[in-house]
Amino acid sequence: MSEALGMADVVSSHCEDVDVLIAGAGISGIGSAYHLRTQCPGKSFVILEAQDGFGGTWRTHTYPGVRSDSDLYTFGYRFKPWVGPPIATAQAIRDYLDEVIAENDLDGAIRYRTRITRCSWDSAERKWTVETTGPDGAPGTTYRCNFLWMCQGYYDHDNPYLPDWPGKEDFRGQLIHAQKWHDGVDYRGKRVVVIGSGATAATVIPAMADEAAHVTMLQRSPTYFFCYPNVSDLADRLRLIGVDEATIHRCVRLDYLHNLKTLDRRSMEEPDAVFDEFKQMIRLYAGEDFEFAPHFTPSYRPWQQRVAFIPDGDLFVKIREGKVSAVTDQIERFTADGILLKSGEELKADLVVAATGFNLSVMGGIEFAVDGAAVDWSRTPTYRGMMFAGVPNLLWVFGYFRAAWTLRVDLLGDFVSRLLHYMDKVGKRQVTIVPPTDGANDELLPWIEDDNFNPGYLMRDLDKLPKRLGDRPEWRHTQNYWREAEEIPAIALDGPEFSYR
Ligand SMILES: Cc1cc2nc3c(=O)[nH]c(=O)nc-3n(C[C@H](O)[C@H](O)[C@H](O)COP(=O)(O)OP(=O)(O)OC[C@H]3O[C@@H](n4cnc5c(N)ncnc54)[C@H](O)[C@@H]3O)c2cc1C
Repeated sequence: MSEALGMADVVSSHCEDVDVLIAGAGISGIGSAYHLRTQCPGKSFVILEAQDGFGGTWRTHTYPGVRSDSDLYTFGYRFKPWVGPPIATAQAIRDYLDEVIAENDLDGAIRYRTRITRCSWDSAERKWTVETTGPDGAPGTTYRCNFLWMCQGYYDHDNPYLPDWPGKEDFRGQLIHAQKWHDGVDYRGKRVVVIGSGATAATVIPAMADEAAHVTMLQRSPTYFFCYPNVSDLADRLRLIGVDEATIHRCVRLDYLHNLKTLDRRSMEEPDAVFDEFKQMIRLYAGEDFEFAPHFTPSYRPWQQRVAFIPDGDLFVKIREGKVSAVTDQIERFTADGILLKSGEELKADLVVAATGFNLSVMGGIEFAVDGAAVDWSRTPTYRGMMFAGVPNLLWVFGYFRAAWTLRVDLLGDFVSRLLHYMDKVGKRQVTIVPPTDGANDELLPWIEDDNFNPGYLMRDLDKLPKRLGDRPEWRHTQNYWREAEEIPAIALDGPEFSYR
């Protein structure tokens, strides 16, 4: 570098300027780009994606059978009809996203192999500077944008959660985390133990059951399972009578939303009745004499953790066929031949698959600064779980857990588009969220109450997430789609929470 060349010259020689920068090309980033392109056609934008392809979750996870556990009429976008079976494979979801990219000419806007490392807001310029690295970790292009649309998800795609079990190194078989699955993992004819009983375990177990010697589901505590045929009778009927796909999508989506809302309410009001209904459905696949205790009787109410949806009851069919069994116990340590349990029993295994979940990643592991001061997300109040006090021109798409994540992508797509139009109309380029100044002494509380939703990956790292402000409903992520579907479109953009300049 010539000595005469200043830092500004270095940055500007690799610098791209856009109105809006979208972080991540998963289902959130692609949906957000669609809304931006269609609702704010005048805005320039790029999507930065660390991986070398789109899809996020649906690209990272490649274990056998990988599929959604939401129906795609609600996990799919509002604007793009879903035409396949309600529960979809990762490949079918990627194909759907591929079509959205092609139909809306989004491909040219995505910059793959581009990891965002640092975002700095400058109030004088009213711009974010976004620094990146390439796949080799070398510095990449620097981007400057007016608005940051964070669609980087909520977990670390590279480092899944693998507890440090004693004796792991003694195990002579293969131990792999489901998130790290690769073609070299061979389960045929093997004694397989899957650790965990969430959605991932419930997917990978039936997918391996026919070819493995036996699969054991080892869980610390039981999970709720909801079995149902993987068809939508309503969609099939509407198709039969010649209704167009866009109308079918709208109707079936409304039907699923209605059913989910009812289930959500009933899980709180009459959890025992809901569990009885879950049991009836399970018996259809597992057999009338299926014993629920001790492996299938959770100690919390339905929906306090995500209920694992089992299309066509496949997990229970494999249990009935004797190919799968469940063990509820804790790991004492790994041995050369398998896993020694706290009860003293030893589970022999050739292959152990850890379906033990994620490591939470707040804001994609990116460093943030506002006017030179580092942002500490763990001390920052959130406005509706989407914007953050004192952090201008930034929105995070953090979806729903008890309803499909993507429902919020559409809601927030409308919101950001409305906000950007509003700012143009009033001639402002900076919006900062301001906490209430009514004198109430609001406590900074954890992102979510543990009696609302408490899966391990959230509870382990809850302290890293932004904070609720007292018990004010606008200052939290309520996780309530139905409420937000009414409230978010009605947000007054000239309200006291929004400060413009
Ligand atoms: C196996 C599995 C099944 C699931 N099934 C469902 C389901 O059925 N229903 C449901 O509602 N939810 C489900 N979820 C949760 C799921 O993760 C979300 O619903 C949804 O896919 C998240 O989409 P996203 O685009 O927000 O994030 P992600 O899918 O995590 O994508 C984020 C993207 O951002 C990129 N990125 C992250 N950090 C950076 C950075 N610093 N720089 C550049 N790029 C970055 C990542 O590489 C990734 O491509 C499932 C999760 C898993 C793991």
